[in-house]
Amino acid sequence: MPRLSEVISALDDLWPAERAESWDAVGTVVGDPDQEVTRVLFAVDPVQDIVDEAVKLGAGLLVTHHPLYLRGTTTVAASTFKGRVVHTLIKNDIALHVAHTNADTADPGVSDALAGALGLRVVRPLVPDPSDPEGRRGLGRVCELDAPVTVREFAARAAERLPATAQGVRVAGDPDAPVRTAAVSGGSGDSLFDHVRAAGVDAFLTADLRHHPVSEARAHSPLALLDAAHWATEWPWCELAAAQLDEISDRHGWDLRVHVSRTVTDPWTAHAASSRATDTSGAPN
Ligand SMILES: [Zn+2]
Repeated sequence: MPRLSEVISALDDLWPAERAESWDAVGTVVGDPDQEVTRVLFAVDPVQDIVDEAVKLGAGLLVTHHPLYLRGTTTVAASTFKGRVVHTLIKNDIALHVAHTNADTADPGVSDALAGALGLRVVRPLVPDPSDPEGRRGLGRVCELDAPVTVREFAARAAERLPATAQGVRVAGDPDAPVRTAAVSGGSGDSLFDHVRAAGVDAFLTADLRHHPVSEARAHSPLALLDAAHWATEWPWCELAAAQLDEISDRHGWDLRVHVSRTVTDPWTAHAASSRATDTSGAPN
């Protein structure tokens, strides 16, 4: 049975903390390095539902993509939402470790998992990390499809293969246009439009797209934009990361039990569309 420090050191090799953005807060949030770990749970969000799931599972380590605290705090009182998470973790001997932007840009990383879930072949990072001489690490991925599909079919595929959410997949663009190449980026991607345009792809699938950037991007190019729920675009990474830790556990003879949470933590819980609305996406809701 490995100690927490050994497992964390393996995770740090996969996603070195120094590769996180300067504004980010990654690494171990809660945990005793000397404690032994038998079960690990991977999830996107360190929210109470997920921590409760870790308790039920008997996990000794919870690994999440999103940080619990992005900025400093002066209280972890259980009367606060995040403080209660900290209390539940400590009372149940569960460590919390975060791999965020250091997992986004890893090889393989969050967008590789997203591309894999969509059945896309990764060609290169959308925004290569200049510190990687091999040019394999970076933000987002430029991908090819094995066979061209329409934007409508691409959206339907995303809705089908990503975990189901209330939002589903929104589309901006001609639903009948062909998609041969696509850029993907797990999480909020509307800061990447310049890179997407420069990549010359037919479609861009990401999350959290906003009115003005989408309007502008549509005005400048025939690029199709697909917006899936933030959580759904990052969840495939949990499965990838769990498989990576499983492999490490086998190699070390750790016999870890590695789990992936299927709890939907996307904050949007319902979706209503007018019967008068024209659905041009063809994507199931
Ligand atoms: Zn995210």
